Amino acid sequence: MNIVPNTLDLIGNTPLVHLAGPSAEAGCDIYGKCEFSNPGASVKDRAALFIVQDAEERGLLKPGGMIVEGTAGNTGIGIALVANAKGYKTTIVMPETQSREKMDTLRALGAKLVLVPAAPYANPGHFVHTSRRMAEETEGAIWANQFDNVANRRAHIETTAEEIWEQLDGQVDGFVCAAGTGGTIAGVGMGLKAKNEKVKIGLADPHGAALYNYYAHGELKSEGSSVAEGIGQGRITGNLEDAPIDTQYRIGDEEGMKWVERLLQEEGLCLGLSSGINVAGAIALGKELGPNSKIATILCDTGFRYLSSLYNAGWLKEKGLPVFPWLIDDD
Ligand code: PMP
Repeated sequence: MNIVPNTLDLIGNTPLVHLAGPSAEAGCDIYGKCEFSNPGASVKDRAALFIVQDAEERGLLKPGGMIVEGTAGNTGIGIALVANAKGYKTTIVMPETQSREKMDTLRALGAKLVLVPAAPYANPGHFVHTSRRMAEETEGAIWANQFDNVANRRAHIETTAEEIWEQLDGQVDGFVCAAGTGGTIAGVGMGLKAKNEKVKIGLADPHGAALYNYYAHGELKSEGSSVAEGIGQGRITGNLEDAPIDTQYRIGDEEGMKWVERLLQEEGLCLGLSSGINVAGAIALGKELGPNSKIATILCDTGFRYLSSLYNAGWLKEKGLPVFPWLIDDD
């Protein structure tokens, strides 16, 4: 009964888990979509599959062709797996500040990895611009362009939102998540609103991102910084255009890490920091919507991807973050 015909069919259809601690804190029901259960262990497998399929349908990607992408890591991992399953090659351009685990994983999957120094978006050396140029200069290559390619958010309109709606039997009052490309929040937001326009969509924005100010005051302005990987956007990407965002929360790294710690210790879930920030945002919306509400959020990726950072005492100290008590002796 549980046989799937193709490895690509393993992407999506992830479980939705009721989160006891966050629900108790919010005084309502908080659910996490287990995106770490995807084959590439993150939410980005969905976008990778839709982007590759879209390029095939448009006739842009020919057999044996190459997919080039600029990514904080998880999209690259998704693309490398999808590309391997379909006979394409992968080149990934990534800022050198991302976790070592992501780099090792990409190399292990057979992707060609190009590391560039972290730079502002306006700088031509930024990883996104570098990846576009590499795709243009390579025969038979396409640029996945996850930030502005709306095949990304379509993955979430057609799969993630549908799944959440079905899993909660249409009893969903709110959805919260952070934005990297914005594909998840825009796509799930659009998909859920199409089912019931009263579903509240909340953005959880890390420090250093400009979207909180944009949705609150109409101004793209950022303050502070965050160590969270994969989230924190400074512009309205193609995927964020017309995103139906009703409310926004600014969530600090310490708040996000508190939930990473509690979910690990109390519920046995090992997650990355964007998941902790999402859960903190879901709790904030849950407190607003009241005791009988049901809020869904995204558990974006596995914590195993951050053993040398979020789960390492020396790294946490260096970043000025509290060290999980059980790690202190390791230092
Ligand atoms: N969390 C992590 C760990 C990610 O890698 C990403 C993707 N960049 C996100 C959250 C945000 O997802 P999206 O790109 O759909 O906004």
